[in-house]
Amino acid sequence: MRKKIIAGNWKMNNNKSETKQLISSINNLLKFRDNLRVIIAPSFTNLESAVGYSSDSFIEVSSQNVHHKTSGAYTGEVSAAMLLSIGINIAIIGHSERREYFNEDELLLFEKVKTTLDNGMEVIFCFGENINERRANKHFDVVSSQIKNVLFKLKDSEFKKIILAYEPVWAIGTGETANPTQIQEMHSHIRKLIAAKYGNKLSQSTPILYGGSVKSNNAVEIFSNKDVDGGLIGGASLNSEDFINIINSI
Ligand code: PEP
Repeated sequence: MRKKIIAGNWKMNNNKSETKQLISSINNLLKFRDNLRVIIAPSFTNLESAVGYSSDSFIEVSSQNVHHKTSGAYTGEVSAAMLLSIGINIAIIGHSERREYFNEDELLLFEKVKTTLDNGMEVIFCFGENINERRANKHFDVVSSQIKNVLFKLKDSEFKKIILAYEPVWAIGTGETANPTQIQEMHSHIRKLIAAKYGNKLSQSTPILYGGSVKSNNAVEIFSNKDVDGGLIGGASLNSEDFINIINSI
């Protein structure tokens, strides 16, 4: 059975003391469940402290980004090996904000995914169509090519370390969510794509998260879809009660 996953993407929010405070209030409210993973992704400067602050809980800590090369003259960048050395085993790659504001294209994303996996880490890979693609009814094609152009270059053993996160760009930070039918039909489409490439067994064990304005008042409805294994949460992960309510909705 696939584990449920709730991941909080903190983006460029929270300094060190706010990081400590938020982790501590999440921890106070969080109840251990065998089939559940809870992941938070603070900014680079707070990752090592976050690992320490969550050492007595089952919260896992992820980075929001990673560089595509292993080391070298890349001023201001952070490598997978550096992340690993401070206890970070997961990286978010392909978030729409990185694609849009930092011009991350699919060749680069593939390099990032490959380097991260080569270092023994897991990847939360984000993708999703924008509003024009949705309106033009191209969302299935767009998502198919986003997955094929990056993830389907991986071997089976590498693909096993990927958590997929379908995030329609028009739903991120907008308060607008895809409706349950739109979510389930896309997740089912993704699972079929994976089955065609890697077989049914791997497809059935691959986690597929939904992201895009998940809040405590819509989480139950979103998570009740059979191919939704959890959520990637932005804004609502910055408030411990909202985040816990979302966790308790799955
Ligand atoms: C995100 O940034 O991945 C996200 C889903 O944000 P929000 O929940 O705020 O829409």
